[in-house]
Amino acid sequence: MTKPPDDIQLDRPLEFRSADGDLHVRIALAALQRADRSCRLAHPLETGGILAGYYSPNRDCALIERLSRAPLDSRRQRRSFQRGVRQLQTWLELLRKQHGMFYIGEWHYHPGTSVTPSRRDLTEMRVIASSPAYNCPEPLLLILGASVCKPSRISVSIIPAVGERITLTPVEPAR
Ligand SMILES: [Zn+2]
Repeated sequence: MTKPPDDIQLDRPLEFRSADGDLHVRIALAALQRADRSCRLAHPLETGGILAGYYSPNRDCALIERLSRAPLDSRRQRRSFQRGVRQLQTWLELLRKQHGMFYIGEWHYHPGTSVTPSRRDLTEMRVIASSPAYNCPEPLLLILGASVCKPSRISVSIIPAVGERITLTPVEPAR
């Protein structure tokens, strides 16, 4: 079993890996800073958006470079978040043209300390995973949780259309 995540500082890039070490996810500092701002502004409501970035050529590493803000047509509540779609396509298109990035998953904020995906989170991710419109069969789900009213916990999962969710754990930075 994975141990509960410790509090973390969102001031440096983070890396996560699967238990077998075969899959890695790196989160760029710019993405974490965006998450930090968005979560603080939204607290005590949930918020979220989408993830943009790259996969390594052999697809064993995903690089989360950017997080979108919550689209204006999203619905934010204390215990639920329904992501809207307004402007997302434009945002993605710009990142694709300028940096070759594309959609790689979803993020959202749980104002409580739990960063475990809810049943509904998993259902929504499976819908995305099997949707041709997203063209992303193994989307990432990044969840930020709070302690003392700011984001300080993170979970990263891969949710394939069929089969078990893969939970990744933080890799300690090399010093
Ligand atoms: Zn959730």
